[in-house]
Amino acid sequence: MSTDGAYRVSGGCLCARVRFELAAPPEVAGYCHCTRCQRRTGTGSAVSVFVDPAAVHWQRGEELIRCWKPADGMHKCFCGECGAHLLSRSPDGSRMALRMGAFDSDPGIRPSYRQFVAYAASWEPIPDDGLPRYAEARPRDGT
Ligand SMILES: [Zn+2]
Ligand SMILES: [Zn+2]
Repeated sequence: MSTDGAYRVSGGCLCARVRFELAAPPEVAGYCHCTRCQRRTGTGSAVSVFVDPAAVHWQRGEELIRCWKPADGMHKCFCGECGAHLLSRSPDGSRMALRMGAFDSDPGIRPSYRQFVAYAASWEPIPDDGLPRYAEARPRDGT
């Protein structure tokens, strides 16, 4: 997706030491019900938006970002000061997903799928919101 120079949405962590600006509209957003998202957030699911990594500009605090790097899957990154989850990214940096709760204002996209529902928390029914549900990871074109 190209940037027209007008799209700007800012965000950051809980303690505000880490701040970023997204300079291009997100690509796709969705809920993840996997066990890792449950563990890292302490909730039943997490919602993230995939973005062009080149469109994310760190205004301050990038050096405070810490990442949990599992042997498989994307790195889970958070503010090392306050623990707020900010993003996940592929080990090679080519793919990045920002946590929707990190935005200051509406990023202009809505979640369009639910993935890893086979692992959904037993104590929280999945909302009947009509979104497509995938037992495992959301299928992606060309991968
Ligand atoms: Zn912080
Ligand atoms: Zn997940």
